Amino acid sequence: MAHGSDEKYALNLDDIIAFPDAAHMPVLPPEPGESWILLMEIMEDLSFMGRPVFSVKDITQTSFVVAMYTSNPFHDARNFRIGHTLCITSLRPHHFLDGHTGFRIEDPNTIEILPVSLVRLREINVALRKRSDDGYIQKCIKCNNATEMRCGVCRSLYCTKECQRMDWREHKRQCPVLKTLHRWNRTDWG
Ligand SMILES: [Zn+2]
Ligand SMILES: [Zn+2]
Repeated sequence: MAHGSDEKYALNLDDIIAFPDAAHMPVLPPEPGESWILLMEIMEDLSFMGRPVFSVKDITQTSFVVAMYTSNPFHDARNFRIGHTLCITSLRPHHFLDGHTGFRIEDPNTIEILPVSLVRLREINVALRKRSDDGYIQKCIKCNNATEMRCGVCRSLYCTKECQRMDWREHKRQCPVLKTLHRWNRTDWG
């Protein structure tokens, strides 16, 4: 996938190399400079016997179990919420002893939670691509005026404090999502 920049938003969440669904996970570990992200919506909290366990589904609506095996599992799962999107970097399937195939998370640095559903995440991404294709990627996200003022977190553009204030209610929720999408947009997935 050709990667984007601050001037071009080209992120494609349908690219199954960078964003594989659970049935298309790479068999081999990532090579140096290579990575992928598995996107899954959290469906149900199945935690038991002192271990955080969640039922999740990927974009094909296939359900899997994700179990936390980090050294501080409940701390690392503290932001897991039903309906939010769990993003895990370069994860591979795990065959549990009970015969189920699922995912076993061992490194907390590979996890990111986005406070939106998988469907909403894809809608936001499509909207960003459209803004970029229409030539608005470097304009105020509220009114499309030219500007260089940015949100300090996600680097979205605003032309005035007024525009930022008007957009704040919606932006507050989306800001961490936009920050992550822009980072992925600039990533070379190998
Ligand atoms: Zn504006
Ligand atoms: Zn922001």
